[in-house]
Amino acid sequence: MADYKPNMKLEKTGMPEQEASVRNKNYDEVALGYTAEMAIEEATRCLQCKHRPCVGGCPVMVQIPEFINHIVQGDFEDAYQTIIETNSLPAVCGRVCPQENQCELVCVRGIKGEPVGIGRLERFAADWHFERVGDQPATPEPNGHKVAIIGSGPAGLACAGDLARWGYQVTIFESLHVSGGVLMYGIPEFRLPKSLVQTEIQQLKELGVKIECDMVIGKVLTLDELFNQHGFEAIFIGTGAGLPSFMNIPGENLNQVYSANEFLTRVNLMQAWRWPESATPINIGKRVAVIGGGNVAMDAARSSLRLGAEQVSIIYRRSEEELPARHEEVEHAKEEGIEFHLLANPVEILGDGDGWVTGIRCIRMELGEPDDSGRRRPVPVPESEFSMDLDTVIVAIGQSPNPLLRDTTPDLKCKPWGGVLVDEDTMETSKEGVWAGGDAVTGAATVILAMGAGKKAALSMDHYIKSKS
Ligand code: FAD
Ligand code: SF4
Ligand code: SF4
Repeated sequence: MADYKPNMKLEKTGMPEQEASVRNKNYDEVALGYTAEMAIEEATRCLQCKHRPCVGGCPVMVQIPEFINHIVQGDFEDAYQTIIETNSLPAVCGRVCPQENQCELVCVRGIKGEPVGIGRLERFAADWHFERVGDQPATPEPNGHKVAIIGSGPAGLACAGDLARWGYQVTIFESLHVSGGVLMYGIPEFRLPKSLVQTEIQQLKELGVKIECDMVIGKVLTLDELFNQHGFEAIFIGTGAGLPSFMNIPGENLNQVYSANEFLTRVNLMQAWRWPESATPINIGKRVAVIGGGNVAMDAARSSLRLGAEQVSIIYRRSEEELPARHEEVEHAKEEGIEFHLLANPVEILGDGDGWVTGIRCIRMELGEPDDSGRRRPVPVPESEFSMDLDTVIVAIGQSPNPLLRDTTPDLKCKPWGGVLVDEDTMETSKEGVWAGGDAVTGAATVILAMGAGKKAALSMDHYIKSKS
């Protein structure tokens, strides 16, 4: 490193992507990834800081300077191996992590200019590995202990990965027919190719993790049955937050009003985007409005365009500054032709006499004093109502945890809004031998926070089981 001369360009090395006017009609991935030359150029922007603030910004503590240094040297497989010491889903995280609020937020290069493109480099290393090296994880020595994971989203997968590496016999129970959670049923193919998610899950299976799909825990088996009849010594709940919220306004029961969950599940998991080759069609018409301003809303809006809608609008009650979606997703949505109706709130979904959507009535909003979340509260502007003609309305205003497990597990304490109550240092729940993490605990959050929680729980489960044996 003595003669290392960093590349002092202020901007990140550009990421090639499909043209907006082309990509908004196909389901291929928008961002195309770095070539080896681009990756090395970007990696040399890293200053290899001794105090490593970027590592502290990553919820799973990826050893960022080390993996970037391997890229600088052209040792791409070593870069991948360094990342997966702490992150079992690098191809996923490199694509969907909100890096701008995590590792890249605290990158020293961000003080004057753009931070190092840590996510882009992570994606490069993972893609390079899967294209050239493939699946070769070593099988760990079994330690004779058996654990169950409920839910195969990022929280469950991260927890399973660590426990399997430490020799545990891990079984994941998943209620859907496919594993991966939101990575498979929520985030669209054009942002996160499903083959990549399955490739990363395959790595866990090679480690010995067993995944049982079509198993709704709380219905098919209870937590106590998993302990008492199936011999599991500890259980992790990673069941996510898949219950959609609604606005409770007139017209919400009309035909052609979807929750974003149902819409995206049909499009992604059931592959309606491939219809008629797939078995599941979806009808959205030509004019679509999506209510909400998060990643889920952006994904629903951009999917609608690709399904053939001619006019797609986002309706959001705060201003652009408060949009919760990643900045990159908002920019991509705008480039693709999505219209933004900001500071507007629906008051009624309009229908014809036969029960089908014909439009929406909204009221304009302005921002008042900060509310409990610290954001300025949107308040209606008197006599400012307006209407839009529509064929479909997609509601993307939030999700909460499904009540099934708490309803069937009386000694599992939950918060009033439904999140599982845990000790935040260990992720232990009120029920002996049960841990929880991810969206099931926090409500809708991020992939990497869910993975961080899964890993924290794995460590505590390991201590618990070892202390009892
Ligand atoms: P989930 O991913 O929800 O997985 C939970 C799993 O548990 C599911 O497979 C579910 O079927 C299963 N399950 C539920 N109940 C049971 C039961 N009783 N028995 C068995 N299995 C059960 N985050 C980002 O970081 N970046 C993004 O760009 C981003 N975009 C998003 C876009 C969309 C459309 C959505 C919906 C979310 C997005 N998120 C994003 C949020 C992120 O995906 C979630 O925070 C993350 O997936 C939470 O992981 P999890 O493992 O807690 O839950
Ligand atoms: Fe950054 Fe996410 Fe990678 Fe961590 S996992 S280094 S937060 S991109
Ligand atoms: Fe490199 Fe930025 Fe981390 Fe410093 S803070 S080591 S420049 S990635």
